[in-house]
Amino acid sequence: MKILIVEDEVKFSDYLRQGLSEAGFVVDLARNGLDGHHLAMTERYDLLILDVMLPDVDGWRILKSLRESGRQVPVLFLTARDSVDDRVKGLELGADDYLVKPFAFAELLARVRTLLRRGAVTATETTLTAVDLELDLLSRRVTRAGRRIPLTTKEFALLELLLRHHDEVLPRSLIASQVWDMNFDSDTNVIDVAIRRLRAKIDNAFERKLIHTVRGMGYMLDTTGKV
Ligand code: CA
Repeated sequence: MKILIVEDEVKFSDYLRQGLSEAGFVVDLARNGLDGHHLAMTERYDLLILDVMLPDVDGWRILKSLRESGRQVPVLFLTARDSVDDRVKGLELGADDYLVKPFAFAELLARVRTLLRRGAVTATETTLTAVDLELDLLSRRVTRAGRRIPLTTKEFALLELLLRHHDEVLPRSLIASQVWDMNFDSDTNVIDVAIRRLRAKIDNAFERKLIHTVRGMGYMLDTTGKV
């Protein structure tokens, strides 16, 4: 598993590189945004760890370039700023997870493993379908009515969860624990933003809506057409 770290703080980035190398990962390190951007766009990685605040090309711009070019590699953001606005901005650009500095290395390692595990396929069934929506777990392709729909890693996990439990109401707390591996009780906004993005991709262009809000309860993917 190959990981790219883009982080300009020398001691901190050395510490991350050493820790992840000791944990068995192959690690590339870029100490500025320009090098990081170049590596992210030309090399193949299983995961990117991006610092938001970089002196030249910031983490957001790197992420934006990646997603605009269709690269679905999972991205973990490191940010010193713990504001909802920053987190929402990152999510909207297609980030998969966040860590706010300072954090324990064990926490980083846990998040990295979760993101990589999600990228690997262990399921025996390879396709999930609902109405005209199809999600291929092996190729990680999603189509609706035969039309390809590019999703971020997080959106894919969210859609996979909704599909596996179609026609069941999924509470936000369940979505938070299953898709984000964390408790978002105090910040359900993150889930709502992700659902909104997913809906825009899955439902906006189609008359028949599949993803529904069940007021006060959560979300549901409906295959009956009765909602
Ligand atoms: Ca920095």
